[in-house]
Amino acid sequence: MTQTLYMPDISETALATDAGHSSAAWDPQELLQLLAKALPEGVGYFEAHTLRCLWANALLANYNGGTVQSVLGKTMAQVLGDSAWSAVREPLAHQPQHSLISGQCDQPSPCGNLRKSHIQLRAHCDATGSLLGWLVLVHDRTGQWLAERAVQDSEDRLRKFAAATGEAILFHRSGVLMDGNVALQNLTGYTLAQMVGTSVYDLLPQRFQPSIREYARYGGEYLYEAAIRHKDGHEVPVEIVGKTMPEQDASYRIVVLRDITQRKKAQQREAFLQLHDALTQLPNRRHLMDLLDTALAQAQRERTQAAVLYIDLDHFKTVNDSLGHSTGDQLLCEIARRLRATVRDEDIVARLNGDKFVIVLTQLHSRENAAVVADKVILAVCQSVTLDNTPLTLSPSIGIGMYPDDGLEALELLRNADAAMYHAKDSGRANRQFYAPDMAGRATEVLRKERLLRAAITQGDFVLHYQPQLHLHDGSLAGFEALVRWQHPERGLVGPDEFITFAESRGLITPIGRWVLQEACRQLKVWQSQGLAFVPVAVNLSALEFRQRDVAADIAEVLQKSGLEPQYLDIELTESVLMHNASQGLATLHALKALGVGISIDDFGTGYSSLSYLKRYPIDKLKIDRSFVMDTPGSSEDVAIVTAIIQMGRSLQLLTVAEGVETPEQIALMQSLGCDLGQGHGLSLPMDATQTTAWMRMRQRGEQAAWIGAAG
Ligand code: C2E
Ligand code: MG
Ligand code: MG
Repeated sequence: MTQTLYMPDISETALATDAGHSSAAWDPQELLQLLAKALPEGVGYFEAHTLRCLWANALLANYNGGTVQSVLGKTMAQVLGDSAWSAVREPLAHQPQHSLISGQCDQPSPCGNLRKSHIQLRAHCDATGSLLGWLVLVHDRTGQWLAERAVQDSEDRLRKFAAATGEAILFHRSGVLMDGNVALQNLTGYTLAQMVGTSVYDLLPQRFQPSIREYARYGGEYLYEAAIRHKDGHEVPVEIVGKTMPEQDASYRIVVLRDITQRKKAQQREAFLQLHDALTQLPNRRHLMDLLDTALAQAQRERTQAAVLYIDLDHFKTVNDSLGHSTGDQLLCEIARRLRATVRDEDIVARLNGDKFVIVLTQLHSRENAAVVADKVILAVCQSVTLDNTPLTLSPSIGIGMYPDDGLEALELLRNADAAMYHAKDSGRANRQFYAPDMAGRATEVLRKERLLRAAITQGDFVLHYQPQLHLHDGSLAGFEALVRWQHPERGLVGPDEFITFAESRGLITPIGRWVLQEACRQLKVWQSQGLAFVPVAVNLSALEFRQRDVAADIAEVLQKSGLEPQYLDIELTESVLMHNASQGLATLHALKALGVGISIDDFGTGYSSLSYLKRYPIDKLKIDRSFVMDTPGSSEDVAIVTAIIQMGRSLQLLTVAEGVETPEQIALMQSLGCDLGQGHGLSLPMDATQTTAWMRMRQRGEQAAWIGAAG
């Protein structure tokens, strides 16, 4: 639209005045000067044809270094300076009929500072439209430009930062998304183009929308957690903080969203681990107690029964010790899986600790139901499993406590099921037992015994007795068997039959076995230094100890520390040890053999008595079990068995030892059958170290003549 300025004739002072209010003080010239001074812009008037300055205010005159006086009569080009003139020259030359011409220019100030200007030329025409002159306005935009540039720079920096950070950033005005970074696109699954112009609240699940709208409305700037609804429908947990943009109105906000999926997962994991066992993922004891409480409450409401199955794996410690913890862990996971698969989804399967699991069967109508499930559990656990190429079989001992018969409370039921489990262990393992009232006392007794035994181990309350083994053909000393006794605080000396199996079941055999080995080696070394006993001492090794991977290394260390030569140590093993775990057993036997220690098979005849292993294994002695010797010579059957064993030993070049020979007749029989060695009350009772020393001294003095006479 064309705008034409009708300027008053300055020289004639012909300003329009209100007819009714003329004043003597009214001086248009003065008013013009006032206006010229007051205007924030440079203003000047140039003659139409010559473009020479007729009038200028100080701002315009100074624009290119002149004064109000000096610019009069100068051309527009001179007054404006090169850059400003260039900005308007073209349109002025080509389209003089244009009543409004404007241009921008960068023209340094007279003292050299950067300056941005906006130049406007307005045509001054008379009533007929012919051009009289040009009104020139120069507006210095430097300040505004600097401010704009600062904002622009700051936005650029923000944009660069937004692109560089992994956190999603968005800008919105009154909830309408204006801009966002790449991370926002990754977080939401939408492209920026899809999001710009839409409501930011649409990115949120419905439940968060009201509170977040409110937060934005009053300009909240604290951190809070919410979620983003991803394009494909899933929710991404986020931490959000919003800020009102500086120097912008409060509706313009920048929002930073941090994906906290990992943190949430860690929190969930932590919460899970509070209630579950990390290895098997089953509920832990704490969780079990809560679940059991709930199950019992339900059983009470529905008038049904429930069963607590307390499961302990038999000999699990052996597997753990011999095959390593990682195999043990795998085994536990496999057992956990089987337990879970054996029962219904509604039933509870938990791991208490170590090899102890609990199953809670709900909605039962009889004890028989519980028995059936317990039998299924036994079958499931007993299935062999191959780990690290080693086939393994484990069995469980299960104690069962019934609700409401055996207890109304979770803790009581669990305790009673535990007592029943001990009863199952005592009944030969791999079976299940229902709780009976007298078992609770026994469970306490078991705990007490364990406590006492542990104390005995720390205090070293054990002694060794030594039972001599004699050459049957001449009565000379062939060796000793070291037999452990527990110095019980209340009961005096307690024999190994009462605590070795128990120690095995409580995982206490290792320290006891190690003590026996050290003590036997030490004692023999003492006797040797006294010129007595240049014969081996035999030490019994339990099946559990034998299966430990480093048994040979252990023995080597004890020998080395005691200084005893290996030929003075015999290791007694039972047949069953060799039958189970055949390949590993063979390796351990060879390792022992390589050390130079002797190997005896104890209680021979009671186990598998397989000829094949006798041939394969590096064995030195067969100890004929006392049960075969006991009834000889009266029992012809036993005589036949003993005869067969002795002959077999001879053909395999093994020494035979008759255990438990008590009577002169038995001694004579064994002699006549060609048995090499004898051990038993008929030859000598086991004696403590002092008695054994005296016994050897006595024999050294030649007091064994009586024996040769008796047997010979
Ligand atoms: P074993 O190795 O067969 O030991 C022989 C057992 O028979 C000993 O019983 C011994 O006192 C007993 N005995 C010897 N001669 C006669 C006899 O003429 N008549 C009768 N009735 N018994 C006789 P003890 O000391 O009670 O040991 C029992 C078992 O405990 C041992 O049987 C052995 O298997 C185990 N044991 C003993 N000491 C240790 C040990 O240090 N470590 C381990 N793991 N087991 C041990
Ligand atoms: Mg023995
Ligand atoms: Mg024996």
